[in-house]
Amino acid sequence: MNPDAIQIVESEPKHFGTGWISGVLSVCLGAVGLLAVLCFHYPALLTMPELRAMYPVPYVRALLFLILTASFVLGGISIYLRRSRSIGGIGILLTMIAVMFGGSSVPVDGELGNGPFLGLDWFLLNIIAFSAIFVPIEHRFPLRREQPIFREFWKTDLAYFFVSHLFVQFVTIVTLRPAMIFFDWATIPAVRTFVGGQHYVIQFVGIMIIADLTQYWVHRAFHQIPFLWRFHAIHHSAQTMDWLAGSRLHLVDIAFTRALSYLPIYLLGFAEGPLFAYIIFVSFHATFIHSNFRFEFGPLKWLFATPRFHHWHHTADLTFADKNFAVHLPFIDRLFGTYYFPRTEWPERYGVDDPGVPSSGFFAQLSYPFGRKATPTDES
Ligand SMILES: [Zn+2]
Ligand SMILES: [Zn+2]
Repeated sequence: MNPDAIQIVESEPKHFGTGWISGVLSVCLGAVGLLAVLCFHYPALLTMPELRAMYPVPYVRALLFLILTASFVLGGISIYLRRSRSIGGIGILLTMIAVMFGGSSVPVDGELGNGPFLGLDWFLLNIIAFSAIFVPIEHRFPLRREQPIFREFWKTDLAYFFVSHLFVQFVTIVTLRPAMIFFDWATIPAVRTFVGGQHYVIQFVGIMIIADLTQYWVHRAFHQIPFLWRFHAIHHSAQTMDWLAGSRLHLVDIAFTRALSYLPIYLLGFAEGPLFAYIIFVSFHATFIHSNFRFEFGPLKWLFATPRFHHWHHTADLTFADKNFAVHLPFIDRLFGTYYFPRTEWPERYGVDDPGVPSSGFFAQLSYPFGRKATPTDES
């Protein structure tokens, strides 16, 4: 595509009736359909063993058929309505490739085992669920009206979302194994039996409080120790806040924070059921607090972290830096003197006050903490 053509694509209107919405939907559905077909083709490599047995395969195939048909039709509508045919064309191309690989009648190939795998199905389920929840509420109740869904650097944040879900096996291992391998000696059987025997709701609340207390201090260390800050600065490099921005986390940040937060949960012996419920809850709540969602939650906002509470953690204004480290419970910040929650205001700007931190690019950000430290002459 030549630069003039790109200019046409960017300058064409995007409101309803221009073929933009149908084109975007066609590309999204075509991509989901193609990736789902690949999951059928290579289930041993691309799907989670824990999820395989739970799929109602005939219904998944029927849904896949609907998705591919919708992508094709919407691509056609976009081509008809829009001067630039590229977006509708990409949607139809993705659908055609999915059909070439077998479409909705794709056979399930290969022996299923419990070896190394990539969570492509886990990524698809999460991207569908989170976008279905957050895209409509951010559109209906936005904090900033001018913020589009495909805002600046969305591709970087989608790359983080993709990688953290695709490598779910690796992330689970680095989260759970260190506690089991290195701290098994510190467990007290009587304590584990007592804690694991409590009602599930009590255990869930216990996990939330203990994990957030640990997370608070690990998070604070990531802010205050310069070497660790180089990793955590990546999370704060986001200049636009929405549900996808919360995914922007360096892998070292994810591994350390989660492994240390899990350590007391393991030592105390919480049961698998409440722990699994908490993992689902934390993935939702951590996404929610980054969202571009201006709704207030009455008195609940004093109890649970809301988008406005966590947005202040991301403010670019240094006057309010290093506040609101808790992910779930604002009282932890009150307890340790880092609480900041004005009655109605939101931050004006987000991001880090350091031009050395790359503002986008997954690989540039991945390698940034390991690079040479910037010196005053570099900045001149
Ligand atoms: Zn932080
Ligand atoms: Zn954050």
